[in-house]
Amino acid sequence: MMSGLAQSTDVFVIGGGPAGLAAAIAARHRGFDVTVADRSQPPIDKACGEGIMPDGVAAARALGISLDEAGARPFRGIRFCDRDLAVEAAFPQGVGFGIRRTALHELMAERAAQAGVRMMWGASVTGLERDGVRVAGEFLRARWIVGADGGNSVVRRWAGLDACARDSRRYGFRRHYRIAPWSDFMEIHWSDGCQLYLTPVSDAEVCVVLISSDRRQRLDHVLPRFPLLAQRLAAAGAASSERGGVSASRRLARVWRGNVALVGDASGSVDAITGEGLCLLFQHAVALADALAADDLESYQAAHRRLGRRPELMADLMLLLDRHGRLRSRVLHAFAARPSLLSRMLALHVGELSFFDTAANGLALGWRMLTL
Ligand SMILES: Cc1cc2nc3c(=O)[nH]c(=O)nc-3n(C[C@H](O)[C@H](O)[C@H](O)COP(=O)(O)OP(=O)(O)OC[C@H]3O[C@@H](n4cnc5c(N)ncnc54)[C@H](O)[C@@H]3O)c2cc1C
Repeated sequence: MMSGLAQSTDVFVIGGGPAGLAAAIAARHRGFDVTVADRSQPPIDKACGEGIMPDGVAAARALGISLDEAGARPFRGIRFCDRDLAVEAAFPQGVGFGIRRTALHELMAERAAQAGVRMMWGASVTGLERDGVRVAGEFLRARWIVGADGGNSVVRRWAGLDACARDSRRYGFRRHYRIAPWSDFMEIHWSDGCQLYLTPVSDAEVCVVLISSDRRQRLDHVLPRFPLLAQRLAAAGAASSERGGVSASRRLARVWRGNVALVGDASGSVDAITGEGLCLLFQHAVALADALAADDLESYQAAHRRLGRRPELMADLMLLLDRHGRLRSRVLHAFAARPSLLSRMLALHVGELSFFDTAANGLALGWRMLTL
């Protein structure tokens, strides 16, 4: 397995999903020698809503990853649907992209190879040592070790970084349908206790995700609660099988120790309903590379915390609407009566509005709800 590969590297990345590849590319841009190992073979698939917001598109571009090159499909805003009410808003600038997970992985793996990252596919990391890792049964020396091994990270456990400041979970199930997108918005359909969100991923395909707190729920169980959508999707037919995953809301007390740092879902995550997971990990990657170059992982801790604040706030708001149907109905009616409120909320979501503006928007929304 190791023949032809160096026996030491500056940065060893455990996990070659989006976070690992992004971290590897960013570290190469800073001049480090980088090796990535993933136990799977590319292209790697995973349950994901496959929507990337404009801030995520910009963060990917900063790493030299242009999503439109991989046939990603643009969407220009978000539509909320609850029973017979639908409200929508366009992004203040730019577009989001829907992209099949395998296409994203292929694109990122190609960019990593072009950047000079050494890849080890089908190679499991089985242990950490002080100055390196055990990979595919052999020892490889590394100055820095990056844990990008996803939500169930073993690197996190090995490094003693499992302590959480918050930790809750919901469950997501994704399936693709063979149908031309009927709108250029990402749609979130609300019902009590679950959401379906739909992302156009090509001119002929839509990705549908169910998210709920009930791990037994499946798309086919809940679709009858959304009759119009169910009718549309039944006529379209499935283009992939259902794939599930955990949508964790997790903030770690610390994201680094010694020479080990965590990125992507290994380092914490926000509920999938925000569509911010990929954006966050692109941003983690750049912040981590800067910290490695400065030999100052504490600055990564600070950047990681700062980057997580806005998505966490948006996730909290969305989960509040999930838990309280009557509140949700009032909020959506307020948005329908005054669409600029939703536009500003969306601007906050994609980082185009300050927290001060948000507070003002919150007051305006509260007032609108009281006066409806
Ligand atoms: C249902 C659902 C819907 C979502 N929808 C969206 C969305 O619409 N938009 C968005 O931006 N985000 C979304 N997310 C979040 C997004 O999918 C995640 O943030 C992202 O996949 C995290 O990537 P990662 O690289 O950190 O982890 P992963 O993609 O889990 O990659 C981890 C990698 O590590 C490898 N690995 C693990 N252990 C080892 C080991 N010991 N040795 C070697 N390799 C190892 C695995 O093989 C895997 O390839 C969603 C999440 C869920 C669950």
